[in-house]
Amino acid sequence: MSPTITRLTDLATRWNIALAHELPAARRLRRELHAAPCLSGHEHPARTRIVEALSDLIVFEQTADAGAVGRTGPADGPAIAVRAELDALPVTELTGASFAAVGGVMHACGHDVHQAAVVALLRAAEHLDLPLGLVGLLQPREESYPSGALEMVEAGVIERHGIAHVIGAHVHPGVARGAVAAGGGFINAAADEIEIRVEGRGGHGAYPHDASDTVAAIAHIALGIPEVVRRTVSPLRPALISVGTLTAGEGAANVLPAEARIFATMRTTDPADRSTLFDAVRAMAERTAAAYGTTATTTRIEGEPALINDAALAAGADDWLARLGVDGAEPMRSLGADDFSYFCDAVPSLMLFAGVETPGEHPQPALHHPRFLPEDDAVDLVARALMAGYLAAAERVLGIAHHRGDIAGSGDTVGSGEKAGSSGAGPDGEG
Ligand SMILES: [Zn+2]
Repeated sequence: MSPTITRLTDLATRWNIALAHELPAARRLRRELHAAPCLSGHEHPARTRIVEALSDLIVFEQTADAGAVGRTGPADGPAIAVRAELDALPVTELTGASFAAVGGVMHACGHDVHQAAVVALLRAAEHLDLPLGLVGLLQPREESYPSGALEMVEAGVIERHGIAHVIGAHVHPGVARGAVAAGGGFINAAADEIEIRVEGRGGHGAYPHDASDTVAAIAHIALGIPEVVRRTVSPLRPALISVGTLTAGEGAANVLPAEARIFATMRTTDPADRSTLFDAVRAMAERTAAAYGTTATTTRIEGEPALINDAALAAGADDWLARLGVDGAEPMRSLGADDFSYFCDAVPSLMLFAGVETPGEHPQPALHHPRFLPEDDAVDLVARALMAGYLAAAERVLGIAHHRGDIAGSGDTVGSGEKAGSSGAGPDGEG
């Protein structure tokens, strides 16, 4: 076993013990946070509560409006960051839990669990003599635009703290309870929105020959979209466009409307497909609209890029999860989206999925469902997943520092000149 692994194994043992002491309070904090959810852009109370739970140990700085960043371990040199999303969803909770939220806002995506896990992990790390900084990223606006992750990256959080890697962990009902899925490469899709507006000459329904039929045009465009996807993107690369909104007319039966609109989400897994597919949809919409004597205007609202996990970090995390006694699982890949991908674009990073499946008579519903409610022990699992991610990232940063001769003998010191992202290949693997 290399000296780096021996040192990190010893750290893992002590961290795990310290974590066990923190978890009862963290589980209580999770219930408190669950009962007081905050919508995207209004996460200030959640941030205040989390910062308060760490106020005796860590000084946080405000960022991205309702976000915050705090660091423990060595104050200088490279750091590994763990991220917790702060926002909840406009969902009316139906879990019936004693700590259920009221008022039409709910932690239906498990972010309360992530927040409590980050608090427990940071608290447990306090007296451990960490080899590299540990940065807590309290991120607002994961569920809405503008992305809180993008704003934190653009605010220079990565450079300011020398963050070499970011680790995220998300609860997921598709992974067996107690297991954690890592997996390198493509994890989540790039998510863009497409709006198509068709305009023509409105008129009387009984005189269609004196008008142009925007309803027929928009209907054929909607039906043509899956065809465009099929003919534009290789079937070996997942991609889709789903029309979520189609509107025309204002309620009358006998009025041909002058305008119709489609609002759709486009999910792609390859950066080139993002523009190629959009261009193909625009061309189809224009030609179809022209065939009906109307015009189409197509616009793209750019969302987050595809989430690509660093393959080496994923393999390392699998090893550390096994050492921590946590079961591994098949990678969770989907055309869902998560703005964690902005961190992956900035530095090689890793998103893990913590299993909260409850099979049987009352299966755990999907994320964002009004009955989605992970058990208390999900806090423990998310904390251990983040710990495994830190250890894998530290192994990589220390290993590279060691290679370069920054570490001499047993008095391990890490070169403070290590730059964020200098420790490996960029997250540009094909999804
Ligand atoms: Zn989420």
